[in-house]
Amino acid sequence: MKLAKYSIGVGDRFAHQGEAQLRAIMKANERGLEISPVWNKSNREHIYVHSHPADVRKEADAAVAALGYKGKYFVDADHINLTTVAPFVETADFFTLDVAAFIGKPSSQADVDAFVASCTRYLGQLKVPGIAEPLVVTKELLVEIASKFLVATQQASEIYKYLVEHKGAGNFVTEVSMDEVESPQTPVYLLFILKMLADKGVPAQTIAPKFTGRFNKGVDYRGDLVQFAKEFESDVLVIDYAVKEFGLPEELKLSVHSGSDKFSIYPIMADIIKKHDKGIHLKTAGTTWLEEVIGLAMAGGDGLACAKEIYAGAFGRREELCAPYADVIDIDGAKLPSVDEVNGWTGEKYANTLRHIPGHPDYNSNFRQLIHVSYKLAADMGEKYVILLEKHADIIGRCVEENIYDRHFKRLFNL
Ligand SMILES: [Zn+2]
Repeated sequence: MKLAKYSIGVGDRFAHQGEAQLRAIMKANERGLEISPVWNKSNREHIYVHSHPADVRKEADAAVAALGYKGKYFVDADHINLTTVAPFVETADFFTLDVAAFIGKPSSQADVDAFVASCTRYLGQLKVPGIAEPLVVTKELLVEIASKFLVATQQASEIYKYLVEHKGAGNFVTEVSMDEVESPQTPVYLLFILKMLADKGVPAQTIAPKFTGRFNKGVDYRGDLVQFAKEFESDVLVIDYAVKEFGLPEELKLSVHSGSDKFSIYPIMADIIKKHDKGIHLKTAGTTWLEEVIGLAMAGGDGLACAKEIYAGAFGRREELCAPYADVIDIDGAKLPSVDEVNGWTGEKYANTLRHIPGHPDYNSNFRQLIHVSYKLAADMGEKYVILLEKHADIIGRCVEENIYDRHFKRLFNL
């Protein structure tokens, strides 16, 4: 089972925007691209919105049938581990094995020694085709990488074996993710992590390292763009080398867990994948929920009232709602509008404040990040929220489609 060269992970917290998301992808494919849609949802999200993995499969199948989509599509058990994978086995066919929690867990001296011994041919100045400066590989570095990543990659292999047992080899796509950590994995780290995965028989088709810089939720990238470009290009080339050297699947590509809306790095990634003729997997999950709130605001009446109620709730409970996301949001409380002020807004003003159009005078990234982490409030509204989604499906669907196509795909694929 293989992804197309390009694949896009779209999340949809309330499972109502599958068709709108697919419309954006089909529109890009009509322009000559080949993008596989991947509907992803993590265990954490399922818990927050009280949904079940089977719901994502239902949503994907329904969207595909409704639009007569003929290409490949996937359902991703996002960020699962051995304790959370079971409920996803039946309905997912893409598994993101999250082993970040195992990074740095101690390995036996014998395991570290064996890994280092298996790498002696890479010691010294290692030339990776395409990378101008050779990678400097010392024994100390290998020991350090082995000590940090052997247990994590072993964990990936345990989850992979579990999946093979329960789904059969070749019946699912394997991603390995290590992105939800503080310190980035540099290209030389990535190279030896890939060797470990190959050694342990994990046929990763996508790999999600932690890149340099901040990937806050729903807002743009913050970091050194030149450094990012250099690192991203080296990662692409390291993967190419690792595929040939270690025998990993030839379709192996980077997976960028964008936290959505990393607009300033999209053109950089676009140039690099084009230059080297490589694929990419991009997860851009969370913003569909924000487009629902934007669409509700624009609908006016009960829709706008609901959007205002969400902000009032979010403002009052901001500490509690932000706590689980503390590492991936930066909200300046002084720049949040008061509830009274927002209650006086038109739908257009609300939408313009929330919608991510860099440079728009009303855009407020603090407001946006707070709403981003407040989807639990909509989940708690239950039926009322779902009824509004259905009532205003047309306007919301247009927002969702436009967001993915105009703000994401145009930048990422130079459309
Ligand atoms: Zn991630």
